[in-house]
Amino acid sequence: MKIKSVTPFTVTYPEPNDNDNIRYLTFCKVEAEDGTVGWGEAISQFAESTKATATVIEGMSRHVIGRDAFENVAIWRAIKGATWWYGWHGGVASFALSAIDIALWDLKGKLLGVPLIDLLGGAYAKRLPVIASTHVWRSSLEEEAERHGRYVHEEGYLGVKIGMGKFGDARLGYEIERDIHFVKLLREAIGPTAMLMMDRGQSLRWTVADAIRRTNAFEEYGLTWMEEPLEPTETESFKRLRQHSKCLIATGEREWDARGYREFIDSGVADVIGCDVGRVEGITGALKVIELVEDRDLWFNSHAWSSAVNTAASIALSGFTSRCLLQELKPVRNPMQHELVEEPFTQTGGYIEMPSRPGLGVEVRESVLEKYAL
Ligand SMILES: [Mg+2]
Repeated sequence: MKIKSVTPFTVTYPEPNDNDNIRYLTFCKVEAEDGTVGWGEAISQFAESTKATATVIEGMSRHVIGRDAFENVAIWRAIKGATWWYGWHGGVASFALSAIDIALWDLKGKLLGVPLIDLLGGAYAKRLPVIASTHVWRSSLEEEAERHGRYVHEEGYLGVKIGMGKFGDARLGYEIERDIHFVKLLREAIGPTAMLMMDRGQSLRWTVADAIRRTNAFEEYGLTWMEEPLEPTETESFKRLRQHSKCLIATGEREWDARGYREFIDSGVADVIGCDVGRVEGITGALKVIELVEDRDLWFNSHAWSSAVNTAASIALSGFTSRCLLQELKPVRNPMQHELVEEPFTQTGGYIEMPSRPGLGVEVRESVLEKYAL
């Protein structure tokens, strides 16, 4: 079955889980000659990189149109080989390749009538524990702790992950004693067994001493992992942190390709390897990362904080690997998860099942892409 067309879509939308901060994504639709359609997404994040990603997708389409839809990995290799001039070690080319690759896997699954998890080779875990992954924005830390307590006790999430240094009035990540006080309130609110993760936002800069102090103080309240307490490039500081901390250390979501992951995994900076399928050159790229993670007995964590297209691919990848602890979902209803697809992803009793319909298992509403068009 030949591929007939490749079409990019750019969107801009408010993200309620980030205090309605405006975000941007690039989608890609590939269509086969029989009219079957596959969807992909790149977490291109800013207006300029989103527009650039759409332009690059249009250019890359010459490697896709007219090819057999079952040759998706061969197409990935052709694009990767052709974009070395501007895409070596990542950047907009990796965003564009991510969106095309995800769409090609979706199309292949739909043409074969097979869900992505079976195309990959089957589920290690048929269902994944789910945590609520969100940012805090209110100035009252008591209210924020209570809100997260409700996600666990009323909605059934098995834990929470909190982004610090984000938009709004919460101002977490700036005053160490206040941060520790918040984690104490949070542990009281979510109860003794819920998973708890803290994630330094990249707008914050901590010294390695600050990172060690916070990590160990938070750990007193039971930390599943500490995420990006330092910049990903601060390899020596990460090593020092790991020597002085007991909990798992996470980083990786800003890396672009398997080559980059190999370098920092080899440097031994982290236990939990973050990976965004909408950035890491798609499902084909993420599978290479999973191989590295499994080889080193590390943990894979999908950074699925954009659309339901990304979440669908992320759930399948997380269920496929033997080295995944949990799946993150955004707890507050939002346009790119709850409006974009017919049946939004949700947890039941703290777990989410592998999508079972062909391809990614989601039906994208083009009218929603038009509503939020950039
Ligand atoms: Mg993060």
